[in-house]
Amino acid sequence: MPQPTPLPAAWPALPTELDGVAVTPADRARYPYLSSSYMRVGTPDLILMARDVDDAAAAVGYAAGLRAAVGQVPFSVRSGGHGISGASTNDGGVVLDLSALNRVEVLGADLVRVQAGAIWGDVAAELSGHGLVITSGNMGDTGVGGLATAGGIGYFVRAHGLTLDLIRRATIVTADGAVHVVDAEHEPDLFWALRGGGTQAGVVVDLDLEARRIGEDDVVVIHQASQQIVDDLPGYVHAWGDLMRGAPREFTSFLMLQRLPDGRHLSVARNVWADTDIAAAQPAVSDFARLAPLVQHDASLMPYSGIVPTPRSPKVGQQHIQMRDALVDVADRALGERVAEALRHDVASLVELRSLGGIVADLPAPATAFGHRHQEVLVSLWAQPRGIAAIDRAWEPVEAVASGVYSAYTSDTRARQAELAWPGETGRRLRAISERVDPALLFDAGLTLRASAE
Ligand SMILES: Cc1cc2nc3c(=O)[nH]c(=O)nc-3n(C[C@H](O)[C@H](O)[C@H](O)COP(=O)(O)OP(=O)(O)OC[C@H]3O[C@@H](n4cnc5c(N)ncnc54)[C@H](O)[C@@H]3O)c2cc1C
Repeated sequence: MPQPTPLPAAWPALPTELDGVAVTPADRARYPYLSSSYMRVGTPDLILMARDVDDAAAAVGYAAGLRAAVGQVPFSVRSGGHGISGASTNDGGVVLDLSALNRVEVLGADLVRVQAGAIWGDVAAELSGHGLVITSGNMGDTGVGGLATAGGIGYFVRAHGLTLDLIRRATIVTADGAVHVVDAEHEPDLFWALRGGGTQAGVVVDLDLEARRIGEDDVVVIHQASQQIVDDLPGYVHAWGDLMRGAPREFTSFLMLQRLPDGRHLSVARNVWADTDIAAAQPAVSDFARLAPLVQHDASLMPYSGIVPTPRSPKVGQQHIQMRDALVDVADRALGERVAEALRHDVASLVELRSLGGIVADLPAPATAFGHRHQEVLVSLWAQPRGIAAIDRAWEPVEAVASGVYSAYTSDTRARQAELAWPGETGRRLRAISERVDPALLFDAGLTLRASAE
C-alpha cells in the first residue's frame, strides 16, 4: 500500500495523482539535487516533478489550494534551474519542477516543439543535425521555460531576434489550474504576456518555435574569440558601439570587461557571425580585431553546439555572484565612462556588454511583453555578494542611464527593477492580464510587477 507523501502538518494531503511525482526532504537520494537552483540553496518542503501537462495543472491547483487553506506558502516554478534571481526554489514551500518535461521535437519544416524543462544545450544538439538553430543564450545548461518566457539574448540575437520572437504557439497553465493552448489568434492576451512576462501569465509547459535554418546538416557558424588589452575603456566602448551599429545583422558581439591591477581593462569577446559566409563576415571580424591590441585571437568555423557549453552541472546553489543589468540606448563614450566607474568598485567582478539592435529593433516595443526594442546594448554587472548597498553604489553610474531592464538577467527583485523591466503601456497591459488570470497572486516569486516591493 503506497504511503501518503509526508507533508507539514497543516498542509492538505496531496491528490493521489501527485503522490507519484512528489519529492520531500525525506527522499535523501533525490532531494539534495532538486531542492536548490544554480544561484540559490533552497529548502522547499515539497517538490512536484511534473510528467505531463496534467501533472503541471494539478500541481498549480494544489499550490493554489494550499495558499487558500494555510496562507502564504512560497510557490516556485522551475524549468532549467538557472534563474538569476533564485526564485525557482524557496524555503518551506512548494516547487513545481518541469525538468522531466524535456522533449525536443521537429514538427516539420522549421517548426520545433520544445518542452519547458529542456535545456538549451540539448535543443542545440537535437536541432543541429537538421541544419536548424534556435537562438537562446551563451550557456547550454539554461532552461527553456525561464529563458524563453523572459527574453533570450543569445549569439544570434541581432540576426534572429530574441528567443521569444520565435514563439508561435504555447501551452500554458494559469493560476486556476486551467490549460490553455494559445497563439496569435487564440487567447492573444495570454500569448502576448507569456512572451516577456515570465511566470506572470502562468506556467508554460511547451512552446512551438520557428527555428532558423543554417545549412543542411550540422550547424556551423563563424566564431570569433579574443582577448584585448584596453587602455581607454570609454574610447573602446564608443568604437565598439559604432562598429555594432553599422555591422550586418549576422554579427553579434558579447564582451566581458574586467579592470586590471594597473588600471587598464581586459576585454574578453565572443562574437558570432550567424552563418558560414567567411567573405561576408571578414570586414566585421577584422574591424573588431582592430579595436584594441590583441593578446589572444581566434576566428574559425565552429559547430554551434561547441560555443554553447553544456556541463550539466548539478544545481546546488554553487553560483554566489549577484547580477544587475541595464538596457542602454546608446553604446558610446559616456557609457564607457560609466562602465569604467562601476568597475572601480571592489564588488564589481566584471561588466558584460551584449550587442542588441539588428532584427530585434524591427518589432515595435508593444509587440510582446518584452517591451524593449530600441536599446543598442545590454549591460550587466557580475558583483561579489558583499551586500546590496555596495552593489547599488557600484551599479549606480550605469543604472542612471538604463532605459530598461532585462528581467531574467538580474538578481535585484525590487519594485524599481520591475518598473524598468515592464515600463509604461507594457506594464499596464501585463498587470491587467495578471490580475485577470491570477487574481490571488499565486505567481509572486522573483521579479514581478505586482509582488516586487522596495
Ligand atoms: C550561467 C547563466 C548564463 C545565462 N546566459 C544567458 C544568456 O546568454 N541569454 C539570456 O537571455 N539569459 C541568460 N541567462 C539568464 C536566463 O535566461 C535566466 O536565468 C532564465 O530564467 C533561466 O531559465 P531556467 O529555466 O533555467 O530558469 P529557472 O531557474 O528554472 O526559472 C527561473 C524563473 O523563470 C520562471 N520560469 C521558469 N520556468 C517557467 C515556465 N515553464 N513558465 C513560466 N515561467 C517560468 C520562474 O519565474 C522562475 O523563477 C543566463 C543565466 C545563467 C545562470
